[in-house]
Amino acid sequence: MLEVRNLALGYGKVPVLAGVSLHVAAGEFVSLVGPSGSGKSTLLRAIAGLLKPLSGEIRRGFPKEALGFLFQEDALLPWRTARQNAALGLRIRGWPREKALGEAEAWLSRLGLQGLGDRFPHELSGGQRKRVALAQVLALRPRLLLMDEPFSSLDAILRMEITRDLLRLVEGEGISVLLVTHDLEEALALSDRVYLLSQGPRARIAKEYPVPFPRPRDPVGVRSDPRF
Ligand code: ADP
Ligand code: MG
Repeated sequence: MLEVRNLALGYGKVPVLAGVSLHVAAGEFVSLVGPSGSGKSTLLRAIAGLLKPLSGEIRRGFPKEALGFLFQEDALLPWRTARQNAALGLRIRGWPREKALGEAEAWLSRLGLQGLGDRFPHELSGGQRKRVALAQVLALRPRLLLMDEPFSSLDAILRMEITRDLLRLVEGEGISVLLVTHDLEEALALSDRVYLLSQGPRARIAKEYPVPFPRPRDPVGVRSDPRF
């Protein structure tokens, strides 16, 4: 799906990353963990085509439109309803209004927001707004989803619930994921593989390792575990 080879990135003459290589295979959930300021967002920006590499290569095994991006900040339009926000990407892609809104409603339901489509962002909780943002991205049917610390503003319980639902959806849809986070615990719980990024100013991949224990393939099943 994605192959990054020997990448160097920076802003002007200021280097941020050097010699970074990583890959994401089809259907894989991969995390990139690094301390604040190590260049995680910079790397995602380059993969999304928003920043030109100083050197090295980024290869995508799919068209650019099949790249989904979920940012840390809420990018919802405050004057649009949840349904309209979820439909925004589809509208931009030229879907007719009613069809886009219908599809958006279906994604809101899949994310547990049935009945909330008419609410405005300020009438939703932080977790619900995240779910709307996720519906907006997933409605575009990405093959690779890039996420930049998407849930760091949520408290632990909400984060657990939304990541559980996210896992179920990306596995169901066969979406590959590259998640950037500073939370190693979260990365280990979600991922097939984890890359550790060293501290800047020329951060490199310090280590790559497969997650040493299998994560639950059906995360919902965790709830019925008699130990809980
Ligand atoms: P992370 O996401 O891991 O916290 P960033 O990729 O945001 O790290 O930043 C990596 C480094 O690049 C930091 O030193 C930051 O100050 C610098 N940086 C980030 N964005 C810019 C920019 N637009 N212009 C110049 N320097 C930047
Ligand atoms: Mg960042």
